[in-house]
Amino acid sequence: MRVLMLAPPGGGKGTQGVRLAEHLGCEHISSGDLLRAAVAGDTPLGREVDGYLRAGKLAPDALVTEAIRPILATHEHYVLDGFPRRLAQAEGVDFDVVVFLDVPFDVVKRRLLDRGREDDTPEVIEQRLHEYTEDTLPLVDHYRDAGVLVRIDGDRPMDEIAADLRERL
Ligand code: AMP
Repeated sequence: MRVLMLAPPGGGKGTQGVRLAEHLGCEHISSGDLLRAAVAGDTPLGREVDGYLRAGKLAPDALVTEAIRPILATHEHYVLDGFPRRLAQAEGVDFDVVVFLDVPFDVVKRRLLDRGREDDTPEVIEQRLHEYTEDTLPLVDHYRDAGVLVRIDGDRPMDEIAADLRERL
């Protein structure tokens, strides 16, 4: 089974994605983790994407696509978190289920400020929410039209969301 997690930044796609992958017995693959590891390891990819991550901007499609495609090619089942993040990245990747964790912006803003990751400053958060609205939300319509979207109310206690997800899948 191939699952995509879609959510606003701070919407819980990482947390719920890990739990869902455990439940399904498959790999959790996160483009954000992959890119952060590249930055931490000071690899050529890391040096190219560092500025984008700091600014809360989406990294160039070609870079992210080239990094993630080989990983997807070696896995039959996965829960993918953070890719595709833009319609241009969606071509050629198919999902059985796309989970949309719906969380209001005021809630995710509060969560991100509490989380305090390096790219969780107020300015960067605004930028990431802007990019989410412009670039990522169109994917929700795209997958709804494709008939694979499962919308989940993500503004609830974590265990409740996880249980709901297991049931709906
Ligand atoms: P995340 O951990 O999913 O919040 O991603 C952290 C950051 O990594 C984002 O703010 C982007 O800068 C970058 N990133 C992650 N996934 C992608 C993607 N599919 N396309 C472009 N940039 C991405």
